[in-house]
Amino acid sequence: DAQSDSQISHLALDIGGTLAKLVYFCGNKRLLKNDEVQSSVKAGGRSRTIIQGKLHFTKFETSKIDECIAFINRKQLGSHHPKDLDNDRIVVKATGGGAFKFAELFKEKLDFCLDKEDEMDCLVAGANFLLKAVDQEAFTYIGGQTEFVQINQDDLYPYLLVNIGSGVSMIKVDGNGKFERVSGTSLGGGTFWGLGKLLTKCNSFDELLELSHQGNNRVVDMLVGDIYGGIDYSKMGLSSTAIASSFGKTISTNKVLENYRTEDLARSLLRMISNNIGQLAYLTALRFGLKRIFFGGFFIRGHAYTMDTISVAVHYWSKGEAQAMFLRHEGFLGALGAFVNYNK
Ligand code: ADP
Repeated sequence: DAQSDSQISHLALDIGGTLAKLVYFCGNKRLLKNDEVQSSVKAGGRSRTIIQGKLHFTKFETSKIDECIAFINRKQLGSHHPKDLDNDRIVVKATGGGAFKFAELFKEKLDFCLDKEDEMDCLVAGANFLLKAVDQEAFTYIGGQTEFVQINQDDLYPYLLVNIGSGVSMIKVDGNGKFERVSGTSLGGGTFWGLGKLLTKCNSFDELLELSHQGNNRVVDMLVGDIYGGIDYSKMGLSSTAIASSFGKTISTNKVLENYRTEDLARSLLRMISNNIGQLAYLTALRFGLKRIFFGGFFIRGHAYTMDTISVAVHYWSKGEAQAMFLRHEGFLGALGAFVNYNK
């Protein structure tokens, strides 16, 4: 029936420290047409129905979880959604800390039972699914150019997955369900957004990113050239424009916070965080002999300057040996991983 097309037939959640991510499928089973039945039989298939529909992605701030709950309430879950047969309660796959923290709230407001899935399991399952099933998912970003990477299914593993959410997790992935969280750092997206908010009084993450786009970090960062009188430290291969100390220039002037342009502060902060993650990712890849590094998490937001800084850091530190790659569905790895678990 027409109504069930707009209803959610499957929903999965990833409720993180900053953002609650939703992946949901709206669609319908339909009977195969005659010619489709024939080709299905030829291919050895037995099913006479196919599932048609669309996968949707959306997010809410975790601090406004009520908005997320109201959204789900408005959308309604279709009658085909998995249920707990004992009590007829709708079962929703959920991951991230919020799957624990808000379990009672979802039960109370929506009569849902959150079926908790491990966060790292889901990140890896989501990344593997995207890298295998979605065309033009992974790409490099070098010198302002996006280039999609053709992934050879037989040569995907091992790789390093760097998920930049509020904090950062670095996971060595060796196969489906085969992985180890080998490193991480608390200097992540939450640090950028939190410090940025304090320094610039921005009200939204996107506003902070936009500011950083227009800024000049040289006003704030101490460069090699500032120390060497405008010239390179060529013996060590350090150009005069290399950052010697992030935010280091602010100590040598009488300026106070208000004298700095918020654009420049935002730019320095973004470079500091992105550079650091790029360098740590490279060191972690080196430690395990991994050549490919995929970056995910909502921090990236397809932002050119962020991706450029991370790519340059990986390229610089690895002397061109390792490559940073990004994912189009970067922020939804965990939610997608929880979603594909319906098939387990
Ligand atoms: P988590 O699961 O920890 O919430 P995410 O992958 O959702 O992690 O990423 C959260 C980070 O994404 C934030 O710390 C911030 O840097 C960045 N971000 C991107 N878009 C937004 C947004 N609209 N609101 C808040 N943070 C955002």
